[in-house]
Amino acid sequence: MSIKQNLHQIEQQIEDATQKAQRTINSVTLLAVSKAQKINKIEEAYAAGQKLFGESYLSEAIAKIDALKHLDIEWHFIGPVQSNKTRDIAQHFDWVQSVDRIKIARRLNEQRPDHLPPLQITAQVNLFQEHSKQGAALDELNELLQFIDQQPKLHLRGLMSIPPKQADPALQRQQFQSIQQIYQQSVAQFNQLDTLSMGMSDDMIAAIASGSTMVRIGTALFGARPDNWKQ
Ligand SMILES: *Cc1c(COP(=O)(O)O)cnc(C)c1O
Repeated sequence: MSIKQNLHQIEQQIEDATQKAQRTINSVTLLAVSKAQKINKIEEAYAAGQKLFGESYLSEAIAKIDALKHLDIEWHFIGPVQSNKTRDIAQHFDWVQSVDRIKIARRLNEQRPDHLPPLQITAQVNLFQEHSKQGAALDELNELLQFIDQQPKLHLRGLMSIPPKQADPALQRQQFQSIQQIYQQSVAQFNQLDTLSMGMSDDMIAAIASGSTMVRIGTALFGARPDNWKQ
């Protein structure tokens, strides 16, 4: 299938899952994860109507952002953030979904150019104590959200999370529901929050059933990433 067909199929699946969960229509946004994919695939998805794209690897992302400057794309950084990369991220992206510590938030705020609107931020939370994954631990989350909320060049939008892979949809839902509970607590405290970013190609339906407002889809839209792409 073409990228255009994949896109329409995914949009339909999102709509069906949203209805089935008795949630408001259009309450789930699709982020197209274009990491490791060629520029012409991004152009193809854009031509089919997709405007939000996510990238994880900075040098690859910057080359794409520069090449596609003429398009009205909203770029989301979703990869691990090293502190020596914050300046480039603050200059090139609209959103950073993977902010997991105060040091990174402080640098992004300081380095966001004055002529650009505030960076849109979701804090990445790691509820399942996976050492291989980024994310603030639950007991660090509140302080992090508080800090982000106070920065003039950052706009706190919500949470992002990547739970452990599960094949069983019931287990997927269980994990997503735990994340949603934390999100609800955060909303009670910071009432401007509107974004719960969770769900990827293999668990998007369970994420929507559990309250996701943004699914991040790579493989199902663009096909498999090349074997030799660097992690
Ligand atoms: C790669 C990636 C995705 C997309 O994963 P797929 O399984 O290809 O849909 C989503 N979120 C993050 C943070 C990623 O790194």
